[in-house]
Amino acid sequence: MTVSVALAGCTGSIGRQTVEVVTADPDRFRIDAVSVGSSVADAVQVVATTGARVLAVADEAARSTARDMLNDAGMGHVEVVDDLAPVCSEVDVVVNAVVGFAGLDITVATLAAGRRLALANKESLIAAGPVVQPLRSTPGAELIPVDSEHSALHQCLRSGTPDAGEVERLILTASGGPFRGRTLDELAQVRREDALAHPTWAMGPKITVDSSTLMNKGLEVIEAHELFAVPYDRIDVVVHPQSVVHSMVEFTDASTIAQLSMPDMRLPIAYALAWPQRGGTPFGRIDWATVGSLTFEGPDRATFRCLDLAIAAGRMGGDAPAVLSAANEVAVEAFLDGRLGWAAISDVVSRVLDAHDVAVPGTVGDVIDADRRGRIAAAAVVAQMAA
Ligand code: NDP
Ligand code: MG
Repeated sequence: MTVSVALAGCTGSIGRQTVEVVTADPDRFRIDAVSVGSSVADAVQVVATTGARVLAVADEAARSTARDMLNDAGMGHVEVVDDLAPVCSEVDVVVNAVVGFAGLDITVATLAAGRRLALANKESLIAAGPVVQPLRSTPGAELIPVDSEHSALHQCLRSGTPDAGEVERLILTASGGPFRGRTLDELAQVRREDALAHPTWAMGPKITVDSSTLMNKGLEVIEAHELFAVPYDRIDVVVHPQSVVHSMVEFTDASTIAQLSMPDMRLPIAYALAWPQRGGTPFGRIDWATVGSLTFEGPDRATFRCLDLAIAAGRMGGDAPAVLSAANEVAVEAFLDGRLGWAAISDVVSRVLDAHDVAVPGTVGDVIDADRRGRIAAAAVVAQMAA
């Protein structure tokens, strides 16, 4: 029986790679429904490749363009809708590859429908932890991470021990991004294209900037805490520039289990789709004769302040991670638009977080409200800095 998949965010980096994983193994997987923000020409291509029967388009104007394009291409039978969420209950797995807070409704809808969520959209889990956690116990609901580090941890925990009490530490690896080894002075004038030139991973612009500030790793510490219920003082970060060791679990006897593969997101995507089996296509196989040295070093926490800012928000708990993540989205957007310097991203986030009084969100509405307040506060700081 084939696994039916709904793919939210089908035109992005993870979205396109998910299509590759599915089309590489058509006996096993098929895509029934996809969603997109506004790039409908690309989405129509994905529909043609995958045979999806539903296309959700978030942008209203783009929605009617999509209908016309599908009709012109002889695919008028494809249903064009405004929201993928109602379709989540009709498939086996939902891949959430939307970028940013906009991915929240898919995370919530999938778990509430008792389906498997293959989660790339870390922002929804980070921002809405207190609201998402209870949904994980919906009968049938499963959360399998797609983020490579968390997929690695999931794999290490699976092979290590069934007893959570035997886990001593989670160790997340970080590539260090394009600015590893630089000083703050050297980073004062970095441009958009410098930050977008990631040394080991080709990803969408938002996460690529997050990798350059180490905010991505900070968010991933919160993500690991939410996914595996390990306290913050037992989650470490180590810089590993080659991105071959994707993360590690240390057990109480000091034995450490790591997951290794070449940097290729198709492997963790296939892992989440095939769970509890393994994927059949070898993505990211290591050639041991040529892989060379694997090196490790501590992160430069003084230069890359976003790492500890995120961990601080995680420790504050409640809606602090939502506010941090929202402020970061606003700051990254301002940087990508040329309205904010790279080094000021951490200033914006830090000022918003400092001024925030933590509350515990009880509903999705509370999380949306925290996100909105984080965005307003961050926009005000960005405007002040630009003045
Ligand atoms: P991209 O920017 O490449 O793609 C984002 C996708 O989301 C696009 O398809 C975009 O559509 C879609 N989208 C945006 N807004 C909406 C909306 N409101 N409704 C539906 N779809 C929407 O991002 P990435 O693929 O790089 O990242 C996706 C997520 O995966 C992020 O949370 C990221 O942190 C995470 N991730 C990514 C990795 C990677 O290697 N890329 C690795 C690990 C995690 P449109 O084209 O129309 O804008
Ligand atoms: Mg990652």
